[in-house]
Amino acid sequence: MKATYEAVVGIECHVELKTRTKMFCGCANAFGSEPNTNVCPVCLALPGALPVPNGVAIEQTVRAGLAFGARIPAYSKFDRKNYFYPDMPKNYQISQYDMPLVQGGEVRYWLEDGTMKRCPLVRIHLEEDTGKSTHAGSGDGRIAGSLYSLVDFNRAGVPLMECVSEPALHSAADAVAYLASLRRTLMELGVSDVKMEEGSLRCDANVSVRLAGEAALGTKTEIKNMNSFRSVQRAIESEVDRQISLLERGERVVQETRGWDEANGVTHPMRSKEQAHDYRYFPDPDLVPLEIAGDDVERLRVGLPELPWERFERYTRAFGLGSKQATQLIDTPSLARYFDRVVNASSNPQQSANFVLGELSRLANDSGVAVADSKAEPEGVAELIVLVEARTVNSKIAKELLERMWRNGGSPKAIVEDEGLAQTNDADEIENLVEGVIAAHASVVADYRAGKSNVIGFLIGQAMKASRSKADPQLVSELMKKRLR
Ligand SMILES: [Zn+2]
Repeated sequence: MKATYEAVVGIECHVELKTRTKMFCGCANAFGSEPNTNVCPVCLALPGALPVPNGVAIEQTVRAGLAFGARIPAYSKFDRKNYFYPDMPKNYQISQYDMPLVQGGEVRYWLEDGTMKRCPLVRIHLEEDTGKSTHAGSGDGRIAGSLYSLVDFNRAGVPLMECVSEPALHSAADAVAYLASLRRTLMELGVSDVKMEEGSLRCDANVSVRLAGEAALGTKTEIKNMNSFRSVQRAIESEVDRQISLLERGERVVQETRGWDEANGVTHPMRSKEQAHDYRYFPDPDLVPLEIAGDDVERLRVGLPELPWERFERYTRAFGLGSKQATQLIDTPSLARYFDRVVNASSNPQQSANFVLGELSRLANDSGVAVADSKAEPEGVAELIVLVEARTVNSKIAKELLERMWRNGGSPKAIVEDEGLAQTNDADEIENLVEGVIAAHASVVADYRAGKSNVIGFLIGQAMKASRSKADPQLVSELMKKRLR
């Protein structure tokens, strides 16, 4: 019998904080500036320059910690992590070692089917980002064989928050769902752009496998260079398979850092993994320890917004939405807020979700304007939902009204009244229409009676047309069938 293995995955996420200035100096924290324009003696590490911590970055890290239910110790400090890197001018990175700003906590995440899970966090600490090297002159951009490298120090010193999970995830799908939840939460808090493609969210995965039921962890590898959720998923799956094959062949997993090769779908060795003691951490003598006042922590806790997982539970439990619709709404915070306003005014969560994710999202895609930025007010959409539910307008008219509201705003109720667009539910009136159509299409009626039942669609269409789309389609259909019998 073949042995069963369990994957064990931990995720380390580096998140660039969205502050106005860098972590320890007044340079702009901006993405996409001309290279080496946002620099000063502090972030270039010129002799004698002294760092001053960015209070906003500290607050944002504490808020993230609170959102994940973590402990905020009263004391925290910055340490130097010593290593040489061409894009790190100090030759050390100011980071946090044994006294991080945030300890413990957990990320609540949900799977596609809506199952809610939790992954504990080890810590969240604050550090500074490095600059950025571009290796030019070689085809694949790797250092070996390149002719020259360019260094841009604009990113050096940008506040970087590192969120470290416990190795408590057991599949690639769990890891991606965890990451998605972490990302949504940080986006909701407004502390980061969390754009993987721009590098403001970067993650590494620690992966090991062990025989199912075993308590001890297997030897882990750390995977780097994954630049989308899809790569994270594929890289973990591929690495788990690789490790299982090694063990099945009686070989050992070597502890190392491995890169993800997107094109070939495999991980490859990069370097043997450093241990913490290799970095010679020591407290940064230029920075005094941080004392976080309990009052400040409470103020930040009270100011937390509704968190994505809380919103998910509200949408699925209180509103009865499916997991997919709830997630789609939550993934665009402005859309979720818009949706909440539609629900408030319409008291109809399911129809509100259908409109927001259906017609309105289609209009947004076609026009390139976000739903929340369109002229269609949520209260107007709610009015339209009420009109549809009361069968005052049919779905065809509703769609037209929504398109007009999208372009010009306005109240659908007023448009319906002004233009006489209300649906005709008058059975006598519709009966007359049906009679007229039957009289005008005798041969089609004969076909129907001869057994070609699908031609009824044509007859109903003619009656709708005669009503200028205002007839209640259901009523037309019923009366047509009755009359043809
Ligand atoms: Zn600077």
